[in-house]
Amino acid sequence: MKQVVIVGGGFGGLWAARGLAEHPDVEITLVDARNHHLFQPLLYQVAMAGLSPAGSSW
Ligand SMILES: Cc1cc2nc3c(=O)[nH]c(=O)nc-3n(C[C@H](O)[C@H](O)[C@H](O)COP(=O)(O)OP(=O)(O)OC[C@H]3O[C@@H](n4cnc5c(N)ncnc54)[C@H](O)[C@@H]3O)c2cc1C
Repeated sequence: MKQVVIVGGGFGGLWAARGLAEHPDVEITLVDARNHHLFQPLLYQVAMAGLSPAGSSW
């Protein structure tokens, strides 16, 4: 089993984890300073009702 540590759960880290998750011989550890992913533009788009919260699950 290969061990992969990804530092940072931004777009690069998340997409790397998603891609590696398809490999059964890889164990992934994702480390981030926070416990959530944040794409700042969605905050004010939802706050200004330009986007519904239900529609933001991209
Ligand atoms: C107000 C605002 C409006 C914006 N509007 C737009 C827009 O309209 N369109 C657009 O395309 N972009 C926009 N952006 C830019 C966009 O939000 C960012 O470019 C994008 O989110 C950056 O993504 P990223 O994955 O590169 O970095 P991030 O999302 O910042 O991910 C980096 C991750 O790494 C983690 N990390 C960093 N250092 C460490 C460490 N030492 N140890 C552990 N974890 C660590 C962080 O916690 C974070 O989760 C906007 C930004 C702001 C602030």
